[in-house]
Amino acid sequence: MVQDCLFCKIVAGEVPATVVLEDADWLAFEDIAPKAPVHVLVIPKRHLVDIGELGADPALAAAVVAGIGATARHLGLPAFRTVFNTGAEAGQAVFHLHAHVLGGRSMNWPPG
Ligand code: 5GP
Ligand code: ZN
Repeated sequence: MVQDCLFCKIVAGEVPATVVLEDADWLAFEDIAPKAPVHVLVIPKRHLVDIGELGADPALAAAVVAGIGATARHLGLPAFRTVFNTGAEAGQAVFHLHAHVLGGRSMNWPPG
């Protein structure tokens, strides 16, 4: 656990969150400010900063991808978008790796 990391605190139960699904390696919980009817964040329970660090741990990368799929199935999403913001310039505000899973409305690309 990294001190002062919001998502480590959610993993530890120190900050409340609405948990959707989890396993030993990852946690899925509702985004506090949803950008779509369904907006869930899937995170590794171990602190990683971004997708670059996730790429250095292929087993955990596979687990997080499986977690995204399991969460989408659990929510009954027929279609969804997965976004990893990497770096402040790309909109990353929480520096504990997280996948945004967005669905429940049309997800045309590019975003308008
Ligand atoms: P980022 O901009 O880093 O890619 O995404 C961070 C996300 O975390 C945002 O969508 C934001 O709404 C969400 N978020 C920020 N603080 C909290 C919180 O305390 N609880 C939950 N559940 N989500 C949060
Ligand atoms: Zn963390």
